[in-house]
Amino acid sequence: MTGRMYFEKDADLAHLAGKTVAIIGYGSQGHAQALNLRDSGIKVLVSELPGTVNFNFAKEHGFTPVSAAEAAAKGDVIQLLIPDTIQPAVYRSDVAPHLKAGKALMFSHGFNIHYRCIEAPKNVDVFMIAPKGPGHLVRSEFERGAGVPCLVAVEQNASGKALDIALAYAKGIGGTRAVVMETTFKEETETDLFGEQVCLCGGASELVKAAFTTLVEAGYQEEIAYFECLHELKLIVELLYQGGLSWMRYSVSDTAEYGDYSRGPRVITAQVKDEMRRILAEIQDGSFAREWILENQAGAPFLKRRRALGRQEKLEEVGRRVRKCMPFVKPKEPPE
Ligand code: NDP
Ligand code: MG
Repeated sequence: MTGRMYFEKDADLAHLAGKTVAIIGYGSQGHAQALNLRDSGIKVLVSELPGTVNFNFAKEHGFTPVSAAEAAAKGDVIQLLIPDTIQPAVYRSDVAPHLKAGKALMFSHGFNIHYRCIEAPKNVDVFMIAPKGPGHLVRSEFERGAGVPCLVAVEQNASGKALDIALAYAKGIGGTRAVVMETTFKEETETDLFGEQVCLCGGASELVKAAFTTLVEAGYQEEIAYFECLHELKLIVELLYQGGLSWMRYSVSDTAEYGDYSRGPRVITAQVKDEMRRILAEIQDGSFAREWILENQAGAPFLKRRRALGRQEKLEEVGRRVRKCMPFVKPKEPPE
């Protein structure tokens, strides 16, 4: 099953001519999409919370930020780029009252539509353009004449032109200079959650931690364990990114390659794959979404507690110490 792919020739900015695009939220995605659209000649109105750092960025970049309600009232295409957990409340109070027939409601992630935290009226278009990269890359690639690949999905096509408008938007932010791939809100949301839970964040964090702890418990030096299990992962990921598993396996030593084939499957066992399928089932049946929405309604107690505990872990302590000796890493600390 392969969805359609769209390129420059498939998209026409004329579908946004005369329309105002309201970008609500001037964060990672918001600033990049707003600036790219404006550079593409599209009329953009930005909304940010007064007094915030991003409000001042928007002003420095030549926008005059307004309230979310004003942006929704004046926008023909309304792109919600505030954090996903805040979107439903802002939608209800500030956006929904201004969603007149013929307007379009947009997203860069499908969670709130797919799990029905936001239910748009039937007489508006609902679609998604989701860049497959962080905002700063969406901006820097555009500035050098290229673009970041995007996903496109249409949930409601009230105007009969939803896909055309979505592709025009993708062209405006540079997406069609790379490729725009067709998906659905369901597929984007479920694969995004699965990827971050099982592989990118949850899987990778626990893999690194378990490997580090195994070495330290066996009496090896913590700093050496840190280098072997965390630091060097960057080099491997870079190879995977450029040429997949084959290029990584070609670039590492034959000993490492042999260890990969013969030991890797003993780490990621059938039991691990069964657990991956259970995690996917919780995403598909909505139980993960329900859990996460309730967690937020309760003020995110689990998240806050785990965050605090996580920062005190041995791996983190050791990492902070080791990174101080490596200015080239440009060490970072999350805010309190
Ligand atoms: P950020 O957290 O970077 O930015 C959100 C911005 O919205 C912040 O500047 C925040 O202000 C502002 N904001 C919060 N509440 C309001 C409000 N009531 N009115 C106006 N502005 C408000 O979000 P992201 O860019 O990371 O995410 C936006 C969307 O893009 C999400 O749906 C996300 O899933 C999606 N996405 C993100 C990607 C990424 O790499 N970051 C990649 C692809 C999709 P303040 O900070 O001052 O509170
Ligand atoms: Mg993702």
